Amino acid sequence: MSKDVVLILSGGLDSTTLLYKLLNEGNNVTALSFNYGQKAAIEIERASEICKMNDVNHFVFDIRNIVDLLSSSLTDKDNDNVQEPKSTVVPSRNTILLELATAFAISNNLEEVYYGAIKADTGDYPDTTPEFLKQINELNKVNNYEYIPVCAPFIDTDKKDVVKLALELGVPIEKTWSCYVNNDGTPCGECFSCKSRIEAIKEAKEELGIE
Ligand SMILES: [Zn+2]
Repeated sequence: MSKDVVLILSGGLDSTTLLYKLLNEGNNVTALSFNYGQKAAIEIERASEICKMNDVNHFVFDIRNIVDLLSSSLTDKDNDNVQEPKSTVVPSRNTILLELATAFAISNNLEEVYYGAIKADTGDYPDTTPEFLKQINELNKVNNYEYIPVCAPFIDTDKKDVVKLALELGVPIEKTWSCYVNNDGTPCGECFSCKSRIEAIKEAKEELGIE
C-alpha cells in the first residue's frame, strides 16, 4: 500500500538505495537532507540531483549552528582521523536527525520516517543498531500525540546486499557520495567510508558476475 513517508537522504549509497526501494514500492516520498557542518557537504548536492532525477520533493535544512556542540572527525577541521569508525561518529546524530524528521512528518501529515542504517555499521555506529531502532520507536510512541514509526529496512542487510539491490533498482551509484573527506567530486579512496563502499561494490559485482 502506498504511503506518504519522509526519508533522511544523505546522498550516500545506502539512503539513495532506500529512496529507490520506497519509490519502487509506490510510496510518496519526501526527502530531507541536513547540513550539520559535515566537511563533505557535496553529499547534499548529490542528494538534490538524485531527487530531481526522480521528481522527489527535497528539503535541505541548514543546522550548521549545532556543529559547535558536536565533536567528530566528520566535522572538526583539525581532526583528520577518518580511518577509525569511532572517530567519525557524530554524537547523537541519528537521534537528532530522526527526531527532526519525526517533527517534520507530524507537521506535514506524513506517516513514517525512514533512514538508511545498514547491518555493516552495527558495532561501529551505535545509532544504527536494531536496539537503537527499537528504543527510538519506544520514544516516538510517547513524545507526541501521534506515533510516527521510524523504519530502517536495511538494518539487517549488509552493504554488499544493499549494492546488489541498488544495481537491481537502477540506482545511479556513481552519483551517490560516500567519502568523508573530499568535497570536490573525487572520493579519497582511503577513508573508512570509501573503503567499505569500494569493497561492497566489488563483492556485489563479483556475486552478480558483472564488470
Ligand atoms: Zn573517502
